[in-house]
Amino acid sequence: MKDIRLYEQILEIERPWQVERVSLNKERKELEVEITFKVRFWACPECQERMHILWI
Ligand SMILES: [Zn+2]
Repeated sequence: MKDIRLYEQILEIERPWQVERVSLNKERKELEVEITFKVRFWACPECQERMHILWI
């Protein structure tokens, strides 16, 4: 988990983007960094209008 935070700092990744996984591909001598975009939308139960975004 510490490593993931470190890569986020190095790559300057900020919310809602976040590093999901980091793995070393020894065959190709590559470091794979998987980045995801995590947001959750809430809608009004009456009119279905989008209310706000919750960063997770
Ligand atoms: Zn409403």
